This record gives sequence, C-alpha cells and structure tokens, in this order.
Amino acid sequence: LVSREFHPADSIIRIGDQEIGGNRVHVMAGPCAVESRAQILETAHAVREAGATFLRGGAFKPRTSPYSFQGLEEEGLRYLAEAREQTGLLVITEVIDARDVALVAEYADVLQIGARNMQNFILLKEAAKCGKPVLLKRGPSATLEEWMMAAEYIMDGGNYQVMFCERGIRTFESYTRNTLDLSMVPALHALSHLPVIIDPSHGTGKWHLVHPMAKAALAAGADGLIVEVHPHPEKAVSDGKQSLTPERFQVMMADLARLTSAL
Ligand code: PEP
Ligand code: MN
Repeated sequence: LVSREFHPADSIIRIGDQEIGGNRVHVMAGPCAVESRAQILETAHAVREAGATFLRGGAFKPRTSPYSFQGLEEEGLRYLAEAREQTGLLVITEVIDARDVALVAEYADVLQIGARNMQNFILLKEAAKCGKPVLLKRGPSATLEEWMMAAEYIMDGGNYQVMFCERGIRTFESYTRNTLDLSMVPALHALSHLPVIIDPSHGTGKWHLVHPMAKAALAAGADGLIVEVHPHPEKAVSDGKQSLTPERFQVMMADLARLTSAL
C-alpha cells in the first residue's frame, strides 16, 4: 500500500484547509515540549507570523532518562488546542502509548509517532484507527525497508494519511546528534507515493546547522520541514541546543521563501 506501484501518483494528505504532498511546502514549528501555556502561545504566534502552517510541541515526551521532564500530558494538549484557536495553526503532537491514541487524536490534527516507537506495532495499529493523519518518524537505526513496513502497518489498518519524517540516524559521527540522511527524500519519492518531511533539528542537534540543512532538504525535494523553535532556548526543558529562537526562525523562513515559491 505504501509503494508507488500500488499508487503511482503522489498522495496528497488533506488536513483542515491544508494539503501536504501537493504543490506547497509546509513548515511545522514549535518547541520540543509544551512547557507552559504562556510558552506555547508565545511560540505559536511567533511561528505563525513567520509563515509556519503547523504548530508542533510534545505533551507526552519519550525521554532517554526517566528523571527528565515527561510532558504536561492532557494539560499540554489543551494548551495546544488553545494555540490553534488563537492562531489558526494546525497542531501536530506525539503519542507514545497506544492507550493515549484516542485522547491525543481528540486534540491533535496530526499524530506524530516518534523515532523510538517506529516499530511499536501495537501503537501503529492503534494509530491506524485514530481517524487523523500520522507522521511516522524514522527509527534511529531503521533501514528504509523497515520504515516503509512500519508505514504499511498504518495503511493496512485503514489509515491512508501517512507521512514519513527523516530525523537523522545513529552513526559513528558524534559532532552531530544524529546523521540527517537526506538521500531518503528522493529514495522515498521513488519507492513511495507518501509525502516526506525533514526534521533538521533532531537530525543535527545543533541550532546553527538547522537553517542550512533545511535549505538542503528543500533542494532535495522534501514536502515539508518540522523545526524546533523556543522563545528562550537556553531555558528549554528539552532540546534547547537544537532550538531556533523566533528571530532565527524568521530569518530562516525568509531565506527559504527566497529559494522556493512553494512555501
Ligand atoms: C521530537 O520531535 O521532539 C522527538 C522526540 O523526536 P524523535 O522521535 O525524532 O526523537
Ligand atoms: Mn525534541
């Protein structure tokens, strides 16, 4: 179902009044985690102003350490919904547990399945039944074939609104947090009809690499970007080092708009 043989034309995912996989490039932006009502509302207005069409922010956080902030959960989902009402941005947020899929789908416009859960097949099957589009991140050590098979679970479960998201893979390189594999954009476009989104934030781990890699992603033909933006990256509870300030995000967006008329 995921393969281009099954569906030769590009799939277009319709979400609210937006289309992903069509002629426009979408930028999804916001903090790694929803930390407070004020933080998410301030960020939402700033990214909207700069031209983003989706607001990102985790209410359930899959953290490496059990002692790290785990997310505001439903309170965070409510703040995201309030930000959508105020700005008109669509909301994408991560679900990490099959038991929370229905709850997250009540609030979100797109469900994000994180890298750590790419092969959580119970979660994939549950997401297939949620009635909302799904953004499926690549596992840190997943091959292209494994990733496509994970997407196949969602489509086989009846949900055809699936997008891939490359967010970097684990390699021997340690300067960058992950190695952003941009070759996946043309590779997926050749093998599949589904849209491909690039995450240059987790893909590099360093804010100063985000803007150049975002440009490279568009040059490679990505259908969209998902970018971490925080009003005060130095105070962020997670992923501050890879987060753009609203000012830097605005500069990047203006530059991207010069590169493409599709933004
Ligand atoms: C995130 O988007 O904040 C996140 C946890 O990403 P990933 O699953 O790619 O690590
Ligand atoms: Mn993050």
